[in-house]
Amino acid sequence: MIQDKIHDIVGKLPSGVKLVAVSKFHSVPELMEAYRAGQRCFGENRPQEFAMKVPEMPSDIEWHFIGHLQTNKLKLVLPYASLVESIDSKRLLDSVNAWGKANGKVVPVLLELHLGAEETKGGFTDQEIIDILSEYVDADSAYSHVRIRGLMGMATNTDDEAVIDSDFSRIEAFKKNLDRMFPSLDGFTELSIGMSDDWQLALRHGATIIRVGTAIFGPRKV
Ligand SMILES: *Cc1c(COP(=O)(O)O)cnc(C)c1O
Repeated sequence: MIQDKIHDIVGKLPSGVKLVAVSKFHSVPELMEAYRAGQRCFGENRPQEFAMKVPEMPSDIEWHFIGHLQTNKLKLVLPYASLVESIDSKRLLDSVNAWGKANGKVVPVLLELHLGAEETKGGFTDQEIIDILSEYVDADSAYSHVRIRGLMGMATNTDDEAVIDSDFSRIEAFKKNLDRMFPSLDGFTELSIGMSDDWQLALRHGATIIRVGTAIFGPRKV
């Protein structure tokens, strides 16, 4: 039961940690089951699917976008997303900032750190994130219409808990380094790590957001 799964996870979360119910590939009735269990934060990773589901669900939902976002799809996502967790290129960040400017909005985002061993996984290197934040904290920063709220990362896809632990340690330490390097960085508080199989481990590494799909909704029918 979706409701029991939600209650079970939420009951184990320390206060201040947010559960994103990752509802990609699942139907609106399934999402509504989670909603009736009290879940108000949902995550989707495909712009078209995201834009279709938002108007079909109640309006008090906080939507997170967690997938690869192409710059020509911004208008499907940015009007509705409370947080874009998956900023993975400077080009995308610049486009989101430009969209915000044109639409009179400041868009909250996370920067995705390339964390897992897979080359195919997206995300920035440490140095790229440092360069972006240097620009962002500058008094004359062009980034007036994005608000960088923290980091997101996906651990290596493996059953080896030691590997996942080391991935989470790395992003946790990097986040702390950034806090030290950029003392004027305001509101850079979020660390989005942890999925169905590793969210409890993520909590031990300072996760403030966990993104859980399969453990709530069951396997995705792809
Ligand atoms: C699908 C997805 C999740 C959830 O994965 P599960 O293993 O089903 O919990 C989390 N984060 C991102 C970025 C995803 O694309």
